[in-house]
Amino acid sequence: MNVLAIGAHPDDIELGCGAALVGHRRGGHRVTLLVMTTGERGPQDARSRVQEQEDAAALLGADLLWGRFVDGEVPDGRAAVDVIEAALDVSGADLVYTHAPSDSHQDHRATSVASLAACRRLPSVLMYESPTSVGFTPSVFFDAKGLVEPKLDLLRAHVSQVLKNGLVDLEAVESQARYRGFQARMRHAEGFVADRFRWDPAPARRIDVDVDLSRAEVPA
Ligand SMILES: [Zn+2]
Repeated sequence: MNVLAIGAHPDDIELGCGAALVGHRRGGHRVTLLVMTTGERGPQDARSRVQEQEDAAALLGADLLWGRFVDGEVPDGRAAVDVIEAALDVSGADLVYTHAPSDSHQDHRATSVASLAACRRLPSVLMYESPTSVGFTPSVFFDAKGLVEPKLDLLRAHVSQVLKNGLVDLEAVESQARYRGFQARMRHAEGFVADRFRWDPAPARRIDVDVDLSRAEVPA
């Protein structure tokens, strides 16, 4: 499977679906990240946020693409849709993760709207939550068993945000995983809202069974 995860700023993707992406990588799936801006208006540290995002992508074993939009001014129209469609081509994505549209941050909203337009022909699009989500009610849950600590490791690569942005709180991320797990009747989980989701229960174990319908008895 090829997975594309889209976020407005460095760290959005890891916050929203970091555990799921680690799970994909462990399953042998190819993961590509598309980050729309470099987060240049947010808190900074000694290492640039570009470097932090590159470190997180390397730790995950993911390819990294940049949208090159201005932080705070991500458009939701043609320009953003074009960038996301190009990322879909490059990644060959079967499944996309992106922001949910109800969010108090304008870049998150715009990225969500542009993603849903660009992914209009894709069978599976899952929307993740962020610290600025509004009224997020997940109905699809990813079992994050054993994946919370690797998710926190991805977030630790974003040193500037962990130290200086109050909205990136590793303790809260861990608690959120536990609460989403409680909702999903498991220990830890990440929650998603599906725009569309094609469910295939056991693609790797599918076997061909010969069924001879000519021998079936048809009632008169
Ligand atoms: Zn963000």
